[in-house]
Amino acid sequence: MKFNVRSRGDNNSNILTQKIKNYLQEFELEMDKSEPDIVISVGGDGTLLEAFHEYNNRLSETAFVGVHTGHLGFYADWKPEEVEKLVIHIAKTPYKIVEYPILEVIVRHHGDQEPERFMALNECTVKSMVGSLVMDIEIKGDLFETFRGDGLCISTPSGSTAYNKALGGAILHPSLSCLQLAEMASINNRVYRTVGSPLVLPQHHTCILKPKSDVDFQVTIDHRTLVQKKVKSIQCRVAEETVRFARFRPFPFWKRVKESFIAE
Ligand code: NAP
Repeated sequence: MKFNVRSRGDNNSNILTQKIKNYLQEFELEMDKSEPDIVISVGGDGTLLEAFHEYNNRLSETAFVGVHTGHLGFYADWKPEEVEKLVIHIAKTPYKIVEYPILEVIVRHHGDQEPERFMALNECTVKSMVGSLVMDIEIKGDLFETFRGDGLCISTPSGSTAYNKALGGAILHPSLSCLQLAEMASINNRVYRTVGSPLVLPQHHTCILKPKSDVDFQVTIDHRTLVQKKVKSIQCRVAEETVRFARFRPFPFWKRVKESFIAE
């Protein structure tokens, strides 16, 4: 089995990364940065997001596992003191794969620019570079509402505990194949009206955002921020691809939610 280990880049994560590499090589596993079967990310959830984007062209071949060197994460759920156990699991036992849905985002432009396709593990957000964001929201081909406000967040179930949660979105179990659309401070008065509640769309429903004017937009895909010009539409749906996590022991999602947000 071929592996790679990715560090957040701070001193603690670098030391732990080197330790994991050495242990795995002692078990005669091969390090392969370009075509790993398993990628161990060391740092936090943000580090795993970066690893996901580095290998998003081989999601059906590469599985991910995260070790946290700060606080417990949703993706980074192994403690530093457990790495010996983790390495033995990786080297000696066939691991179980759990697959979570991810988001496909296609940005289409006016003019001849080719459409751009992105994949997000957590979410895509859209904001206007100038003034309020004003966009028609179509769901499954029909106009649903015209949104006016700070922005929109379209998240995956595993990303529902991130930005989406801060916007009052629901926490969704990642076994659900769906996406969630949450508003950022919509303007609601006698003139402008939006539904106000976060919406959860099933896998076969596509959501298309269409700008009402030709302004530039700030689009984020997980940790990446892009400026998009001459946008015709931004299409979001559950991707055909999934992200694969290597599971070596049960760690129920709701337990992780409790430990991250409620338990001392
Ligand atoms: P960051 O601003 O440095 O950190 C964002 C925080 O979100 C970190 O504490 C990170 O955990 C945590 N996080 C990432 N994915 C998560 C998940 N699925 N569930 C729960 N928490 C999660 O940015 P970053 O590390 O590059 O991460 C980018 C993410 O930041 C975006 O995808 C977005 O979800 C999130 N974000 C949140 C807000 C907000 O809550 N208001 C605003 C902007 C962006 P670690 O510390 O373990 O890395």
